[in-house]
Amino acid sequence: MSRTPILALHGGAGTIPSGSLTPELTDAYHAGIRAALEAGHAVLRAGGSALDAVTETVMSLEEEPLFNAGRGAVYTTAATHEMDAAVMDGATGRAGAIAGICGPRHPVLAARAVMEQTAHVFLAGEGAMAFCREIGLEFMDPAWFGTERRLDALRAELARRASGAADTRSDADRHGTVGAVALDAHGNLAAATSTGGLTAKTPGRVGDSPVIGAGTWADNATCAISATGQGELFIRVAAAHEIAARMRWGGQSLAEAADDVVNRVLAPIGGSGGLIAVDAAGNLALPFNCEGMYRGFVGADGGFRSAIHREDWRVRQALSR
Ligand code: ASP
Repeated sequence: MSRTPILALHGGAGTIPSGSLTPELTDAYHAGIRAALEAGHAVLRAGGSALDAVTETVMSLEEEPLFNAGRGAVYTTAATHEMDAAVMDGATGRAGAIAGICGPRHPVLAARAVMEQTAHVFLAGEGAMAFCREIGLEFMDPAWFGTERRLDALRAELARRASGAADTRSDADRHGTVGAVALDAHGNLAAATSTGGLTAKTPGRVGDSPVIGAGTWADNATCAISATGQGELFIRVAAAHEIAARMRWGGQSLAEAADDVVNRVLAPIGGSGGLIAVDAAGNLALPFNCEGMYRGFVGADGGFRSAIHREDWRVRQALSR
């Protein structure tokens, strides 16, 4: 049965003070979201798989230095980058994840290779890097991932910690993540997430993004999810899997389950953030419990929509098919 493909993405959530976004920067974020939607939706329009679509979408976001994934990743306290990523295929239940790597141009491709080329689900650190080299992934110099903006954020945070001053940073300076979820014409779901994690994180720290069931999940019977926010809290409540479990066992709709997890499970324990979700019927949910979430989607009408705060959607009508 041929279904209308659906694609959604996020580029991180949190406090995004309107004053910190110049009109130029706002346009640049919308353009980055739009370009990634176009890359992923082209795959779906051509009859490609949800797995390929979310991979392409995340690769586009990893390439855009505005987002904290791939190029533009934040720094650890040691002024290094440690990137995490995951993919999950809802049709087969297979998943792949990678943590603590710096080198592969596209961490999402490393995660996908773990899924497709190993007997494992999750590789981390040195072994993960050796695997990425062995299979010939494209590598970039560590400096290629860095940006002045992220370095400034690291310096400011280290100075703040040394002075003991209160933490008044916007979440855009603290963290961020990119992710995509899709339903393809064949009725299959997939999710992918990629991140540099938290600014000034302890080397070795791994967040929720690559943890299957926390920041990433896909299962044709329920939904595909990619999360963003304070990763420790998303891990503790197995946020993405909690949504799938509520749908599967509790009979909740995608909208109810996603909203409950973001606003009733995560918010009360300080789990600031949001997520994007799509179910097998093509319903979408993009809840967040903070000021904003960089996000976009292409729904059943084929229009391209992008937003940052609550009600600032920009719409471009469907590309000719
Ligand atoms: N969830 C990510 C992490 O904890 C950060 C984010 O999404 O902003 O690594």
